[in-house]
Amino acid sequence: MLQLLLIIVAVVGLLMVMRREAGALPALGVLAATGIAGIVLGAPVLGTLLLIGAIAVAACGLPALRSKWLTPRIFATFKKVAPKVSDTERTALEAGSVAWDGELFSGKPNWDALMAYGDDGLSDEERAFVDHQCSVASGMTNAWDITRERADLPPELWEYLKKEGFFGMIIPKQYGGLGFSAKAQSAVLQKLAINETLMVTVGVPNSLGPGELLLKYGTQQQKDHYLPRLADGREIPCFGLTGPRAGSDATSIPDTGVVCKQVINGEEVLGLRLNFEKRWITLAPIATVVGLAFRMFDPDGLLGSEKDLGITCALIPRDTDGMEIGRRHHPIGSPFMNGPIMGKDVFVPLDTIIGGPEMAGQGWRMLVECLSVGRCITLPSGATGTSRYALGWSGGFARVRRQFNLPVAEMEGVQEPLARIAALSYIAQAAVMETANMIDQGEKPAVPSAILKSQLTEFQRDLLSHAMDIHGGKAVTLGPRNYIGIGYSANPVAITVEGANIMTRNLMIFGQGAIRCHPYVLEELAAKDADDLKAFDKAFFGHAGLIFGNTARAFTQGLGLGKAATPFDEVAAPYAQEVARLSAGFGLCADAAMASLGSALKSREMVSARLGDVLSNLYLTSMVLKQWHASDKVESEAALLHYSCRLLLHRAEQALIELFDNLPNKGLGKLLSWLVMPLGRRWTTPHDDLTREIAQQVSRHSALRSKLLGNTWDQQEEGQQDNPLARYNALLVDYDRAEALYRTINKAYAKGELPVEALHPEQRIEAAREAELISEDDARFMVAYEAEVLDMLTVDDFAFDAFAQQQEKVIWHNAA
Ligand SMILES: Cc1cc2nc3c(=O)[nH]c(=O)nc-3n(C[C@H](O)[C@H](O)[C@H](O)COP(=O)(O)OP(=O)(O)OC[C@H]3O[C@@H](n4cnc5c(N)ncnc54)[C@H](O)[C@@H]3O)c2cc1C
Repeated sequence: MLQLLLIIVAVVGLLMVMRREAGALPALGVLAATGIAGIVLGAPVLGTLLLIGAIAVAACGLPALRSKWLTPRIFATFKKVAPKVSDTERTALEAGSVAWDGELFSGKPNWDALMAYGDDGLSDEERAFVDHQCSVASGMTNAWDITRERADLPPELWEYLKKEGFFGMIIPKQYGGLGFSAKAQSAVLQKLAINETLMVTVGVPNSLGPGELLLKYGTQQQKDHYLPRLADGREIPCFGLTGPRAGSDATSIPDTGVVCKQVINGEEVLGLRLNFEKRWITLAPIATVVGLAFRMFDPDGLLGSEKDLGITCALIPRDTDGMEIGRRHHPIGSPFMNGPIMGKDVFVPLDTIIGGPEMAGQGWRMLVECLSVGRCITLPSGATGTSRYALGWSGGFARVRRQFNLPVAEMEGVQEPLARIAALSYIAQAAVMETANMIDQGEKPAVPSAILKSQLTEFQRDLLSHAMDIHGGKAVTLGPRNYIGIGYSANPVAITVEGANIMTRNLMIFGQGAIRCHPYVLEELAAKDADDLKAFDKAFFGHAGLIFGNTARAFTQGLGLGKAATPFDEVAAPYAQEVARLSAGFGLCADAAMASLGSALKSREMVSARLGDVLSNLYLTSMVLKQWHASDKVESEAALLHYSCRLLLHRAEQALIELFDNLPNKGLGKLLSWLVMPLGRRWTTPHDDLTREIAQQVSRHSALRSKLLGNTWDQQEEGQQDNPLARYNALLVDYDRAEALYRTINKAYAKGELPVEALHPEQRIEAAREAELISEDDARFMVAYEAEVLDMLTVDDFAFDAFAQQQEKVIWHNAA
């Protein structure tokens, strides 16, 4: 009995010390105290064992002792096995900042650090721009017209975008730009997601490209010349990195710039002779200035002794001799401007290098540094905007479309995808706006940018498929009345660009994150590079403490003991505690994977992807919780919070379970499973009751629907293109009255009180009016309502030969 008691005291004491990462001394104290107690109270064997444990802890844990014998040995081994970090990887690792992602890696996220990012919303000017200019621009779009009829935006829309400064959102006011915050840029792009061609056209110049590169690295002369011209659309930029041989592996570009001299107007000019072949370059067909990435060489030593200077970025005017530009690619589903650029012996002076000759060879660093911000904004905002429109349209359609005498929104089979769209939209809105808010407060989130890019564009793919399914044939039939089918088919563009999703998920989120965000790994590698034993000792044993800490936190919290403190209300707190628990589990698994696989982890992409999935889902849950905490809540929003958090935590646990099952070391997988999920899986998929409640709310005129559809073009004004969202919203306002009348009329018909041949709704309305079952006013209302519903459900048809590009190939099957 005494022995059992001593063991329990020792284990509990050690777990408490480990949870707090309190260091070797308190652990030594626990073991020594229980050991002495054992000897004194009559359990000499156990007491001696505990004292031996105390001596081992002292020898390995106390800095003064371990640094004499243990640290040098570990350091020598570490130097042999530590993965080599290439220059390219180092550049990526050093770019951007670490914020909440680092907290999640620590296994003990400090929620106060997340709450410290206050949010004042948009400025009055930004709000007015989103409300007015974005509505006007959106009101000039029709997907069919843009995609099929003109394969371009309408000229008046181009004009408007330039005039109102849409292309200069990131350019400061002093250069004539709008100088918008990241939140405002995101809000603009979300609203413009009504049409993906419009969203991409505005998004790209405001993302990674000449504007941002000039702002960060340009010489004053370059800034003064280009920025005002980019801001008002006199210059249209593009950025060419990708070519036929270099896609995901962008640093392998074979395009060259060789330093040479050329006589221009009788004067010898030092410059670059460029030879390049680029493809898929957005805006290239109409660009006036091309940002170009190439490998720079100086074989004749005209600049110095270095012959291979590395990747360099320059700005090349369109009309430079030797450039071939203007042809178009045909991106799936969206005719945004995109095409190849070729250059043969193109000569440009050295001052075309962005930042001037001293920035030669700095191109990769510049690109990676800029990517951390742009990748958080453009595509994630497009995906979020798309989710709002898809939800608005699908909820509206499902409510007004009746089958089997019921709105299809009442059918559980439709409620399921509808609620899923709402939850994905809710999560996306939180993730993109909360991350933009962090950017506005100085963060450059490198790992979250990869999380947002890949996760939200995957959400987009998922929710657009659900929206298509809900709409049935209405969405399948293309034409001017189809508001969703063309956008659906353009989705692979978002999946592929700015780092294709497979690589982003499998390589970048955890692969970069593990070293970038880990509290100690970067320090250990730096100590190795500097051959600094003292720094290594501090980092390595800090790391060891973290592993012990995460083990204790994951295990005890997995048993439901010692839940983390959080600043949230009672609705959100349980989820925050789960984020903390799984973050400890994630931290432990990350270390276990790194330790067991070493440098092989790089090629074990499926392991890396699953760890990335855990991190991504924890990051997204945190953003949802922060949004919940900070915003005014509306009716039934709690259901959406529950649904979203359960979905994300379920996904995080699923990724962990797959990780345990697939670690090459089976024993380690089992041990981790036992430590991280001692009671097994906690989270199942969201309950059907939540699905029903959410689907009801988003398919009706409700506060929840209005909140989710913020930042959309939802007004129909004179002279604008048709706005289906505004029309659905108007129908939903009238829905309750219409539904009551449908019931009265259909009940009467079922009872035989109306003529049996009154099959059309209009005939039944008229018959019900004649039978004085409904009033004149109700009848007029129902006729108008039904007419509007029918119009919304109507699809387009075309002349037999309308789709043939070449009339001579048309087969007139039934010609007389
Ligand atoms: C419409 C469009 C617009 C674009 N706009 C521009 C632009 O303006 N400027 C510009 O420079 N580029 C642009 N791009 C290029 C774009 O960034 C690349 O398409 C993208 O980087 C992927 O390259 P890739 O298509 O050649 O795929 P590949 O590199 O051929 O990859 C094929 C598949 O392999 C996967 N893969 C590759 N390496 C790995 C790895 N290590 N681990 C796991 N999976 C991996 C990828 O994820 C992908 O699924 C555009 C592309 C398109 C289609």
